[in-house]
Amino acid sequence: MPAIAIVGANWGDEGKGKITDYLAAQADYVVRFQGGNNAGHTIINAFGKFALHLLPSGVFYPKVINVIGPGVALNLRAFLTELQGLIDRGVPAPQIKVSNRAQLLLPYHQLLDGYEEERLGARSFGSTKQGIAPFYADKYLKLGVQVADLYDQSRLQERLEQALAAKNILFQHLYQKPVMTAAEVMAHLAADTETLAPYVADTLTLLQDGLAAGKMVLLEGQLGALRDPDHGIYPYPTSSSPLAGFATVGAGVPPQQITRIIAVTKAYSSCVGAGPFVTELQGGAAEELRRRGGSAGEYGATTGRPRRVGWFDAVATRYGCRVQGATEVALTNLDVLGYLDEIPLCTAYAIDGERTTTFPTTGPLERAQPVLTTLPGWRSDLTAIRCYQDLPRQTQHYVETIEELIATSIRWLSVGPERNAMILR
Ligand code: GDP
Repeated sequence: MPAIAIVGANWGDEGKGKITDYLAAQADYVVRFQGGNNAGHTIINAFGKFALHLLPSGVFYPKVINVIGPGVALNLRAFLTELQGLIDRGVPAPQIKVSNRAQLLLPYHQLLDGYEEERLGARSFGSTKQGIAPFYADKYLKLGVQVADLYDQSRLQERLEQALAAKNILFQHLYQKPVMTAAEVMAHLAADTETLAPYVADTLTLLQDGLAAGKMVLLEGQLGALRDPDHGIYPYPTSSSPLAGFATVGAGVPPQQITRIIAVTKAYSSCVGAGPFVTELQGGAAEELRRRGGSAGEYGATTGRPRRVGWFDAVATRYGCRVQGATEVALTNLDVLGYLDEIPLCTAYAIDGERTTTFPTTGPLERAQPVLTTLPGWRSDLTAIRCYQDLPRQTQHYVETIEELIATSIRWLSVGPERNAMILR
């Protein structure tokens, strides 16, 4: 059995949670390999509507083992609260394993994130202020605290003191805020440490033994290719790599085991946060698409922020699929476009008078104008359709045009937010 990565081709919010929840029916493990509770995956199934932030999207299947890999930014309190919230809503207690090498997102990361956004003011990067950037900065500064350290108090204290020494100088002198002590952080962690204990595991061994025994592993990405720190719209990326290639690191599975990479993309574009967004709509057209998009309008699942929306961007998505190494695409939210007589689609960019289909670096991207083509709309409700041949001719034409432009086969179509609103081609 292979490992299958389910990852975003764009700016995030592509509908990865829905696709993962759908495919998890066949899976043995569902793994989160990067990011933290800074974004949400919306899932609608027999238990209700959920926005998962840290929990893998396999938590609705009792047989699935849900894994928080070492690449994740683990906010312990947020994780346990989210888990309890699920159980309180009648979901059977899921099987969860948390890597003993995952690192903890601590209260000072969150404070630093907020203080820095405040300091940057209008020049801020649109952080969700959950502490993700300071967390990953600490990881690579070698100032992080691993889950295993929670169970060795003297080591924990030493790690925290070391991490706080420099932070307290920033707190006092850059931000003019109160300092924090290791004892305060340890007190904050104390109760949660015990609650977490039964979930802690060596997840690398678990997953590699599972793969060797023929189990199916889903690797669930957070955000999308264009938020990758290396290949995305720097300096507006997220702070960990959302690429399928990083899943091998962030989950701890051998690269050659990831044989399928499903890139998820919406039938239009949406984007939360700052950065260039070439097909962005303004005014009434934006408001209408935002109101009709997703399961309850295009508003952030974590932040509630209105998402920026625009027409499908084939340049960005082809690039996103390529960077992900997509073997197939899941196209979501196709039903949303049923209100349009004609559907514009971005096939190229015009930059300084030159036409290009290559996704550029951020400077030229900020000057890019979309080259749009217009396809006929289908003006009908697709939500009950389950077979590709039953889709209107115009919808098929839209899907096939996109498929050609992004040079990746579209294998899955999602025609509604609910689990079963899927068409397999
Ligand atoms: P994720 O982070 O990639 O899982 O995406 P989000 O959950 O943040 O955003 C996707 C939005 O689209 C959510 O509101 C989903 O419920 C919704 N959604 C997913 N697939 C479909 C679909 O095919 N049709 C509609 N109308 N909504 C969808």
